[in-house]
Amino acid sequence: MTWIDLSSNVAVVTGGGAGIGRGIALGLAAVGAEVVVLDRDEAGSDVAAEIRGNGGRAEFFVCDVTCDDSVAWAAEQIKARGSQAGILVNNAGTMLPGGLDAVSMTDWDRILSLNLTGYLRCARVFGEPMLERGAGAIVHVASISASFPQGYSGAYSVSKAGVVMLSRQLALEWGPRGVRSNVVSPGMIRTPMTDEIYRAPSVHEARRALVPARRIGQPADIADAVVFLASERASYITGEEMVVDGGFTRTIMGVIPRPGFE
Ligand code: NAD
Repeated sequence: MTWIDLSSNVAVVTGGGAGIGRGIALGLAAVGAEVVVLDRDEAGSDVAAEIRGNGGRAEFFVCDVTCDDSVAWAAEQIKARGSQAGILVNNAGTMLPGGLDAVSMTDWDRILSLNLTGYLRCARVFGEPMLERGAGAIVHVASISASFPQGYSGAYSVSKAGVVMLSRQLALEWGPRGVRSNVVSPGMIRTPMTDEIYRAPSVHEARRALVPARRIGQPADIADAVVFLASERASYITGEEMVVDGGFTRTIMGVIPRPGFE
């Protein structure tokens, strides 16, 4: 018997067309899950094709998680194939720059609509068959910025803090109905969203040096945590947040000068 086997599960991954979502889709497929890749970008079809090319099972549907009709349509496609999601990974998210004195209300609302309300929308739509069956697991990708404010990034940190509480509330309300809800909070991960930052070797090196693990994370690092929390191995874990940051957020005591204790 393998330690984690998701071969009897259908797993929906939002924003599965690139970056962390792609890594999660590949990670779930590697332990046997049938993966439904959702993305507003057609690149999601390449990820589904990659999984099938590796001998796995995957489908792609264009889906904008900020839109009720689009999410409902994707759920209908899954149902029409006689499938039901047992796992949902809420991952699609982004950020826009802006200090709190300057960010436009439009940008503020756009970020909350995608990063927070989109997560609730998908939890409700894809969680419905889980609640009916009395079994399911939801994993939300938040961020270390849920706990530490990321300046000049508009609503980003607020949205991620909201995701952590959304997950806890889902755990409380849906736990008795058989559905677990947990968060994975990535630290610094190189993806298309952050690639521009890491292209400057000096920035890459300065960031790497801040991390006790002495490397920038990869989507597979996040995928491993998500796969665990989605699996039966985590059947008694719900309402939790797992930080995956190479130790970065544990370094604050290290910045205090303390002669004799270097
Ligand atoms: P990314 O931009 O590289 O990929 C995001 C994917 O989501 C893209 O494929 C994009 O098309 C899709 N997407 C965007 N809006 C969508 C929508 N409305 N509907 C459906 N799909 C949509 O981003 P990433 O770095 O892989 O980030 C993934 C998640 O991880 C986000 O929630 C992000 O906030 C979080 N995160 C990332 C980092 C990091 O360092 N990269 C750190 C902490 C948290």
